[in-house]
Amino acid sequence: MKKEAEQAEVNIGLIGHVDHGKTSITQALSGKWTDTHSEELKRGISIRLGYADTVFYKCPDCKGAEAFSTKEKCPNCEKKGKKLRKVSFVDAPGHETLMTTMLSGAALMHGAILVIAANEFCPQPRTKEHLMALKISGIKNIVVAQNKIDLVDKKKAEENYKQIKNFLKEFEYEKVEIIPTAAHFGTNMDLLIEAIEKNIPSPKVDEKKPVKMFIARSFDINKPGAKPKEIVGGVLGGTILQGKIEEGDELELSPGINNKKTKIKVVELSTAGGTIKKAVPGGLISVKTLIDPNLTKNDQMKGNVLGKIGTVSDPVSEIKMKLNYFKREITDKKNEVKQGEIIVLSAGTATTIGTIVSLKKDLIDVTLKVPISVDKGQRIAVSIKDATRWRLIAYGEIQ
Ligand code: ZN
Repeated sequence: MKKEAEQAEVNIGLIGHVDHGKTSITQALSGKWTDTHSEELKRGISIRLGYADTVFYKCPDCKGAEAFSTKEKCPNCEKKGKKLRKVSFVDAPGHETLMTTMLSGAALMHGAILVIAANEFCPQPRTKEHLMALKISGIKNIVVAQNKIDLVDKKKAEENYKQIKNFLKEFEYEKVEIIPTAAHFGTNMDLLIEAIEKNIPSPKVDEKKPVKMFIARSFDINKPGAKPKEIVGGVLGGTILQGKIEEGDELELSPGINNKKTKIKVVELSTAGGTIKKAVPGGLISVKTLIDPNLTKNDQMKGNVLGKIGTVSDPVSEIKMKLNYFKREITDKKNEVKQGEIIVLSAGTATTIGTIVSLKKDLIDVTLKVPISVDKGQRIAVSIKDATRWRLIAYGEIQ
């Protein structure tokens, strides 16, 4: 019998401005980045949200940060290290047009590494927006990597450090640890792992809670020209928020197929590295179903919520929200939304466009172009159109 794959126990986001080094840090920490991607490319799956799994080890003999690595054999003294845990890195695109992808990614993160380049002024626009997105998702546990430290002198590094400190304070993240890194050279990755171990704990798993999973991707894994009897059902990918899923479970998908709640059967479960019999929160998992694979190809089911039958909210095309603007944005009057304005809403892994049909103080009614499944009290990210792009300005709480 094949050995079962092991699920990661925590999802750590890599966030920050484009080109500040998110992918290099993931590479330096996991070394598996390229493999994960090429595997996906081979199967023709669109890459929106990248991810890579790795295992952290601690050497029993080395002292301080030097003891931490991603190698079972200690890189300093070659002694066999103690396995700490398997983690999953979720790489959020830093490009401004992909902000909605980043927001979907934030819904899957338990903590994050905010990557800030030492050779640029802090904050850059996306640095700020990504931290706002973390706030909306309620992510408190983060570590800052002050990256590209090799490109600046001591004075410049200190100036940049002060800018980072002030920026973090503004968003009430003042206690966050800042680790200087040079990811291209693998510099201080041990310090970074130590900081992650200290500051980003794995989520507690309560298998008794009714299962809930955000769908971030979906695909058709059949090869072109496959014979009818070889065709397998559609696959849903994402992260479990609470509870557990077991092979054979019957669950409910909302908004579902054609925006009607849809019952599905779990045919097979897998995580990076292979199949599993049971899945819990942590890591990205795939759920093979009996859905027509035509309906799951190209991430068509992204934004759905999968959960225990009878516990998932019905799809809605009208929502009422209480708006909360970000402090810095509210000082600028043009950021306030108006009646009739078109806004982009990000709820969990779902993205939809809405029109504000009524507005009373901070309460707004919005009609949605594509229905979503949301719970009372859930936080929804709100972006408005600037001259050239969508900009995150506020979050709404579902009433
Ligand atoms: Zn050692």
